[in-house]
Amino acid sequence: MSTIGQLNPSPRLLLGPGPSDAHPRVLTAMTTPLLGHLDPQFLQIMDETQDLLRATFQTSNRLTFPISATGMAGMETCLVNLLEPGDRIVVCAKGFFGQRMIEVAGRTGADVTALQRPWGEVFDLNQIREVLATVRPKVLSIVHAETSTGAWQPLEGLGALCHEFGTLLVIDTVTSLGCVPVCLDAWQVDAAYSCSQKGLGCPPGLAPVSFSDRALEAMRARKTRVQSWYLDLAILEKYWGPERLYHHTAPITMIYALREGLRIVQEEGLDTRWARHMRNHLALKAGLTALGMRYTAAEGNQLPQLNAVRIPEGVDDLAGRKLLLDEFGIEVGGGLGEFKGKAWRIGLMGYNSRPGVVLHFLGALEQCLQRLGASLTPGAGVAAANAFYRGQAS
Ligand SMILES: *Cc1c(COP(=O)(O)O)cnc(C)c1O
Repeated sequence: MSTIGQLNPSPRLLLGPGPSDAHPRVLTAMTTPLLGHLDPQFLQIMDETQDLLRATFQTSNRLTFPISATGMAGMETCLVNLLEPGDRIVVCAKGFFGQRMIEVAGRTGADVTALQRPWGEVFDLNQIREVLATVRPKVLSIVHAETSTGAWQPLEGLGALCHEFGTLLVIDTVTSLGCVPVCLDAWQVDAAYSCSQKGLGCPPGLAPVSFSDRALEAMRARKTRVQSWYLDLAILEKYWGPERLYHHTAPITMIYALREGLRIVQEEGLDTRWARHMRNHLALKAGLTALGMRYTAAEGNQLPQLNAVRIPEGVDDLAGRKLLLDEFGIEVGGGLGEFKGKAWRIGLMGYNSRPGVVLHFLGALEQCLQRLGASLTPGAGVAAANAFYRGQAS
């Protein structure tokens, strides 16, 4: 075993679909000493984390806390607690993560209706109204920021529409929380889940979730027990609530991280943070467009934090990403599912949404594209981004 050296990962700039780089203050928080998971000081930290999460989700939902696992466990928590065998759910799928929801919902024994849109598109309320009226499902679920396509699903009015039909609304905010507006109460969302490693600037390992009173009522009315013991909210809420009944050992260091990440979100202010993501996205977009690249999602539906673009004609997917990683230490994401080999996904999430990152990336990308034979105007990407920033400054 002596050949296994000390851990020494190369410096990277994580511009893929997640994880994104953690904020330096988050990493510092993670090196502070451990507390016991039932230490009164840690219990206070748990409460503070829940308060910060409510502010970030813009909700007064009492049941708001992080699941000790990644975003997928958030998805699973929402679906296994709200669905019993035979319940009807409509899953709106327009990309990879919508497909995942179909798979996870199906395993609960629920009767799943998949409402599909072509990859890269978004749903409109009329299409959803139609299916609600015919299926009358207990739950409708939808992805807010579809990370596989870069498409931004509008959610205004969807909660009210679902409630007209007595349906609960579940939303995936894994790539949206901390980057674009997420307003659970104003949108009348019944259950939402997210993750720590994308817009919140923390390492992977936690999945914030939040449930409305309506969702709680539906859980109380269950006839069968939740299939999963670990994700059963009826017991988890006794751990995160005032009873403090031991359920599992909270990942102390990750809770420190999330608390610090959320503190940074609140210090910056939600509006300022969303505006920052939009500004750096528009600069990146100006640069990418000048280099001849096109987005996979339609104009108006493009996520600022996840820029999915078609790989330029004649450029090899793997060779391009390898050059970026080997020469510049920059990671971007490849395409998933239908976009495999056809798209790159460039994340500007949380801490990484900065002008310096945009300019650095565009400069590196230009060199890689040129070396791989793409035709482009030298300097055009950086120049266009700078012109955008200049226009904003005046
Ligand atoms: C990343 C992602 C997930 C899965 O989260 P993990 O932390 O990888 O488990 C789920 N939904 C969406 C939209 C995502 O982007």
